[in-house]
Amino acid sequence: MTDRLTIAIQKSGRLSKESMALLNACGVKFSVNEARLIAHSTSHPIDLLRVRDDDIPGLVMDGVVDLGLVGENVLEEARLERIATDSVAAYQPLRGLEFGQCRLSLAVPRESQYQSLQDLDGLRVATTYPQLLKRYLKDNGVNARTVMLTGSVEVAPRAGLAEAICDLVSTGATLEANGLVEKDVIFRSQAQLIQRADSLSEEKQAMIDQLLPRIDGVQMARESKYIMLHAPKNKLEQVVELLPGAETPTILPLSHTDEQVAVHMVSTEKLFWETMEDLKSMGCSSILVLPIEKMMG
Ligand code: ATP
Ligand code: MG
Repeated sequence: MTDRLTIAIQKSGRLSKESMALLNACGVKFSVNEARLIAHSTSHPIDLLRVRDDDIPGLVMDGVVDLGLVGENVLEEARLERIATDSVAAYQPLRGLEFGQCRLSLAVPRESQYQSLQDLDGLRVATTYPQLLKRYLKDNGVNARTVMLTGSVEVAPRAGLAEAICDLVSTGATLEANGLVEKDVIFRSQAQLIQRADSLSEEKQAMIDQLLPRIDGVQMARESKYIMLHAPKNKLEQVVELLPGAETPTILPLSHTDEQVAVHMVSTEKLFWETMEDLKSMGCSSILVLPIEKMMG
């Protein structure tokens, strides 16, 4: 029997879609049955374990699964919790995944007298992340009490359960809707790919070693653009100077004219409208900026 690589991802929630999309973009195909915990890959000896995000760090740290995709907030909270209870807390970080970005922030009611962190001394702060919060308070010498809530943290002040909250924020709309003001970012997070700490079979490790450059390729492609344009030959130097990115462009002759050439290049930076307008006023035409699907160095 082949040794199947097991990967834990969030079953349904903010990380699910992008976790699946990343694996798919790496060529790992799945057909997911919503009712099932496990999904078998149809392209690789890989099994997906679809669970609540809170369970992912423990599954990896206990070596129940080989890889996990989870938010750093959940991961670090679980690690601190395990250290506090003398459990195994080891894992190997593999890649930051550039999705699931959010911040864990302290917020207080709009009418609060809060001026600085020290004002929380003696007060109660509601959170789903007591370990991250306690570490932050301790590092800053503040003596506040943490009130653990697994949901509806943002209503805690109104319900009289706490004077402040420490919760995940991405746009701030939820805070605003609940009459809260963000005061202090205590942790910044994105999704991360992690591996269990102990060593894997050669086959499994080989599969991971193939997967990682593919993930890098997907991420590089996401940030890059392919730029094509026609440029006047006599302005070529200035045109190239305007184009963002370190790569030297490819210059190609055009069949219908001697005065212009085609310039193609991969750019790792955004090409702004202003730059495109400048290129146009230098006599460039047919300026195209295309997304790149895959990349390999
Ligand atoms: P589960 O049922 O799996 O426990 P959940 O309700 O705990 O789901 P989600 O709300 O789906 O979790 O969020 C999963 C992760 O997505 C968070 O832990 C965090 O890393 C990330 N995330 C990104 N933006 C936000 C946001 N605005 N609010 C909450 N989480 C966010
Ligand atoms: Mg959760």
